[in-house]
Amino acid sequence: MIADGRFALVKTTLLDFPGRVAAAVFLPGCHLRCPYCHNPDFVEPARFNLPGVLGCTIEDFEVFLKKRRNVLGGVVFSGGEALLHPLLPELIGLVNSCALGVKLDTAGLLPQKLENVLNSFKIDYVAMDLKTSPHRYEELGWKVNDGTTVGELWDRGLKTLEDAEVDFEVRTTMVPGLVDYGVLEELRTWAERADLWAWQSYGPGDTLNPEWSSLSAKDEEHIRKWITRLKSNVRIVIR
Ligand code: SF4
Repeated sequence: MIADGRFALVKTTLLDFPGRVAAAVFLPGCHLRCPYCHNPDFVEPARFNLPGVLGCTIEDFEVFLKKRRNVLGGVVFSGGEALLHPLLPELIGLVNSCALGVKLDTAGLLPQKLENVLNSFKIDYVAMDLKTSPHRYEELGWKVNDGTTVGELWDRGLKTLEDAEVDFEVRTTMVPGLVDYGVLEELRTWAERADLWAWQSYGPGDTLNPEWSSLSAKDEEHIRKWITRLKSNVRIVIR
């Protein structure tokens, strides 16, 4: 499906790129298998394919950008894991050539690819996931292949972002059973290196593992108490 070269384009979003009216590109393919994933059609397209979702080609995108460059403030690249997609450099290059902003969403486990993109293009904002305790990533389908821990990958990714002097946030989705107060305490070590820590609400919906589709999230009041208790140095927002 990745080789097919098609992806999804949301022509306007006011929510995904802080302070900007943006378009969003969703690139299929991911190296994780988070059971709660709400984009299963981008992770396992053959199993979940929604007709017409992956309908945009690079030529369509170029035409779209030319038409909309005067009304857009930027483009968000998301996925799946956008850093894995072979078209990502070409697509970012097109956006840079239109002098529009670029935001990149990443699951945070590919620091070398992140560094390559930051060295090659103008990137305005990065959102990097801290999904749960680094010790629990095997539950998300992560396979350690060279002994590098998830925490080490996060360290490398955050250092890359700091060195590039790019604005960035880290994000944690409040998935029941995977994120609780103890996990947040553990994550704060990394989160406090970011400008912002976004705690994203979890809601029921189509999920990669159907058994996770009806889990209900903790209520917001409960989560707000965690913010007070954590006394973190980083600004935390609930989305
Ligand atoms: S939640 Fe994100 S990282 Fe996890 S499987 Fe889905 S697209 Fe991949």
